[in-house]
Amino acid sequence: MKTIESSRRQFASDNNSGICPEAWEALRESNQGHARGYGDDQWTEKAADLIRDLFETDCEVFFVFNGTAANSLSLASLCQSYHSILCHEIAHVETDECGAPEFFSNGTKVLLLSGANGKIDPASVEQMVNRRTDIHYPKPRVLSLTQASEVGTVYSPEEVRTLGQTARTLGLRMHMDGARFANAVASLGVSPGEITWKAGVDVLCFGGTKNGTHVGDAVVFFNRDLAHEFDYRCKQSGQLASKMRFLAAPWIGMLQEGAWLRHANHANHAAELLAKGMQAIPGVKLLFPRQANSVFAELPETVRAGMRERGWFFYTFIGRGGCRMMCSWDTTEEDVRAFLSDLAELSAGSPKHGSDTGSR
Ligand SMILES: *Cc1c(COP(=O)(O)O)cnc(C)c1O
Repeated sequence: MKTIESSRRQFASDNNSGICPEAWEALRESNQGHARGYGDDQWTEKAADLIRDLFETDCEVFFVFNGTAANSLSLASLCQSYHSILCHEIAHVETDECGAPEFFSNGTKVLLLSGANGKIDPASVEQMVNRRTDIHYPKPRVLSLTQASEVGTVYSPEEVRTLGQTARTLGLRMHMDGARFANAVASLGVSPGEITWKAGVDVLCFGGTKNGTHVGDAVVFFNRDLAHEFDYRCKQSGQLASKMRFLAAPWIGMLQEGAWLRHANHANHAAELLAKGMQAIPGVKLLFPRQANSVFAELPETVRAGMRERGWFFYTFIGRGGCRMMCSWDTTEEDVRAFLSDLAELSAGSPKHGSDTGSR
């Protein structure tokens, strides 16, 4: 067996961290005796009730294994195959789900919108919908936004409301990819209902994994009619867990005493420290406003290579030289300092900036 790499915490992704203590404890607690399968158990009921309490509304809740399933199955339930789904051009739905939304909706076309900082511009929604209104083109049916966005920015309540109104006016339903919904709520300091159903969101994919659970995201239908036969959709796609209590129980641990928000706040705060530190290093250029738990920056090639040599992993999928650093529920200030210290040292030595800048 390959030896297991050092367990050093990284900034590669918020899914690289482990299970937070609250989720772990709830999982352990649920591991006793027998419980009915397929969601017909007390843990699942309690977790769904806690989500209803959190959103202060009587929504329908389903637990599936991951975010791709949550997004693609919920999107499929909002439209027919001859419809289209509008999302930002860098939306996870478009770039990171291997065509699952199209697959599960039997071919619904995904149309791409633009907008600064990874956020959809309402004008682009209107343009896309009005571009073609004839029978030869798929009919726009769903607007999907990501909160927090793929580049770590956050839609304000006002922005979500405006998009919600635009969607309503144009006859679109609204879907929210909330893989990092907790980080958005923490960043905005609003109640979860404020930026979802009160602003026009019909269905939210509420991420648990990146917030600290082991597996399992929740699909929250505020518009209950749209949840019609969603259970069949889950079963058919292999997303109905037979031991459902183990998908649901961690949510109890996350929600009942506010761990979900505490962890999101913590991760956001770590990202803020990281962003501030990086900003002060010559040669490092931050790419987007830091609003959630990520920092995006352009680093010179030699610095990136040096960081890799020192054992740091991070993704570089945003443009040329654009690096993404993600913080998690367990990221410590020491982790941030260690990363910054290596970055400053390598940046000072980078040919572009000379070795005598004294940037440390
Ligand atoms: C991580 C993520 C998801 C879910 O991805 P899975 O790997 O399928 O759990 C969905 N949307 C966004 C924006 C994400 O970052």
